Amino acid sequence: MKKPVALWLDYELSIDTRKPVRTLTVILRTTGCQWRKCRMCGYWHESSPSVTQADILDQLRYALTTASPPNEDFILKLYTSGSFLDEREISSVTRRRIAQMLRQRRDVKKLIIETRPEYVNADALADLAHVELEVAMGLETADDFIRLEYIDKGFSFEDYKAAARLITDCGVTVKTYLLLKPPFVSERAAIEDVIKSAERVAQYSPIISLNLCNVQRHTRLEELWRRGYYRPPWLWSAVEAMKRIKEKSPHILLISDPVGAGQVRGPHNCGYCDKTVMEAIKRFNITQDSGILKGLNCDCRDRWQLIREFDDYLSGAIL
Ligand SMILES: [Zn+2]
Repeated sequence: MKKPVALWLDYELSIDTRKPVRTLTVILRTTGCQWRKCRMCGYWHESSPSVTQADILDQLRYALTTASPPNEDFILKLYTSGSFLDEREISSVTRRRIAQMLRQRRDVKKLIIETRPEYVNADALADLAHVELEVAMGLETADDFIRLEYIDKGFSFEDYKAAARLITDCGVTVKTYLLLKPPFVSERAAIEDVIKSAERVAQYSPIISLNLCNVQRHTRLEELWRRGYYRPPWLWSAVEAMKRIKEKSPHILLISDPVGAGQVRGPHNCGYCDKTVMEAIKRFNITQDSGILKGLNCDCRDRWQLIREFDDYLSGAIL
């Protein structure tokens, strides 16, 4: 319990300078997300009821000591696979200790945390005062029906908006995760849903991260997938959605970390072009240049076009 679940270094485009910055991502082991109902999420399996607040501070110390990039400023992403602002996972005292640790370092330029909207309040944010902060929320979609019925997320768009306003009012940056292809949504409808959602959240969130749904172990989505009722999104769908979102809202910072791309459980195309498309998405992340996404092609693109056209007929959405 003294070491984090995972940690890794990467790059991300800074919202302030629009230049790539080093990032250190640390997944802390905590008591985990209290909701645990989202159909696609198996992250709470990484939690443990016996983790103490002292363990959490030790995990952070371990990460900063062993993995901080030497002589380089970086953004610290401190995730819990749950909600950083949930008192049951990370107490107010621990949050203040973490803020203190980070303020003493000159190399941590920003802290990014994740939380469900119900834990957002001015006091919880004040625990992290004087640390450049970004708060990410997994809205998944602006469509309440899809979020509540298909994902089982348990909060409304109104709840998200209230939390986003509060975060902004506290002088903190909002980042929003949208989910490409929740269960029970056709390929075409999934693309349209994230585009529509991005349009609706752009005014609350200067950063949108498009999460491409993948099939995690021990989830209800895995059961659907095993029975043939779910296929993860095509990478072409991600490319299409990103191009159109950027066209409609050029001012937002749009990123997508294609987790598990090219694998059968992750977002994938035909197998031949997956790596090229995935690398293009990664290049887009740090350049925001849509031209990178426009030049891609492969024979499987026609197949994807057909599926996109006929998926709705097969699912009965169009009769
Ligand atoms: Zn292909």
